[in-house]
Amino acid sequence: MTVNFHPDAIARPGVLRIHPYQPGRPVEEIERDYGVTNALKLASNENPLGPSPKSLLALAGSADFSRYPDGNGFHLKELIARRHGVDPAQITLGNGSNDVLELAARAFAGPGDQVVYSQYSFAVYALAALGAGAEGVEVPAQNHAQDLDETLNRITPATRLIFIANPNNPTCTWHTADALRNFLDRAPQHALTVVDEAYAEYMSGAAGYPDCTAAEWLARHPNLVVTRTFSKIFGLAGLRVGYALSSAAIADLLNRIRQPFNVSAPAQAAACAALGDGDFVARSCEVNADGTAALCAGLAELGITPLPPAGNFVTFATRFTADQLFEAMLHQGVIIRSLASYKMPRHVRITVGGAEDIARCLIALRAALAALAEADGG
Ligand SMILES: *Cc1c(COP(=O)(O)O)cnc(C)c1O
Repeated sequence: MTVNFHPDAIARPGVLRIHPYQPGRPVEEIERDYGVTNALKLASNENPLGPSPKSLLALAGSADFSRYPDGNGFHLKELIARRHGVDPAQITLGNGSNDVLELAARAFAGPGDQVVYSQYSFAVYALAALGAGAEGVEVPAQNHAQDLDETLNRITPATRLIFIANPNNPTCTWHTADALRNFLDRAPQHALTVVDEAYAEYMSGAAGYPDCTAAEWLARHPNLVVTRTFSKIFGLAGLRVGYALSSAAIADLLNRIRQPFNVSAPAQAAACAALGDGDFVARSCEVNADGTAALCAGLAELGITPLPPAGNFVTFATRFTADQLFEAMLHQGVIIRSLASYKMPRHVRITVGGAEDIARCLIALRAALAALAEADGG
């Protein structure tokens, strides 16, 4: 007798509608599949400097792995609280900020509820909504940016969560303090607004950029959640640590549903050390500013004008499809990101690497575009 078991028939409808997140392709995979060595990955917005030396030291000295981590992340929360001038009770730690984005969705949205986010916004928002069983509401973007007025228009009594990436990956668009304040003042009290500040530390040179973690923002907007990560400027993407700041009441709810040990002991140790290395953050910012300028100058020589950059990545369109350019770059040994999965079929995103990475990437890009043009008949 054959057993006919069809998991799709009983799975949650939201899960069936999920298109899995497409991560940047790993270096080892590309080297295997394309027969290249020394592949360069500029696809996941990682820090070209790697982690802070202080994080590496803390990792090497981090405790006995046979023991569970501190489930409450006492030391890490103390340091985060001091950094942002908040109370430790306002913090929710996550296995990457991805984890806290999902905690917010699970704690506040389920079947019958709506989660609002922008067209072209970070892919995880839609995944978090569907994973929680809620309906995702995608607001049309304006010049690739989240339209905050239209976002307000799309709010209904069923809205429980609004995601705002500031700046947004992959479009580099961001909202000023005035724009966000205006939005939050008008946002309804029956929904949380989650401001994702994964790239905030890179925005120090951007006039008008708001730091929503500031105590005044959190105090004025009791429905505000702000997320940060150790994956980007702190160079700890592989360890998976992020956090949310909010009112203590919201943090209490988020902490109820997280896994009791969602941040590993080595990750906590490395993150604590990272917060103590302000020089590393400053140097990372400088390397990124120089690199962004160099990459944009190189693109200009190729006749390419990117979207105005923000964060540590550059996004641009070419006359070929994103997938074609992605593939042609792989043949040159450079991994970039096609934005086809963001329904931006001609745009690609390149992480700002170090000076040598950028030089190599630009040579590869010139060769890849030439190869595509030739295949295209000139
Ligand atoms: C990279 C990124 C994150 C961070 O993800 P982690 O889970 O913390 O590694 C969050 N939001 C945006 C917009 C990002 O680009």
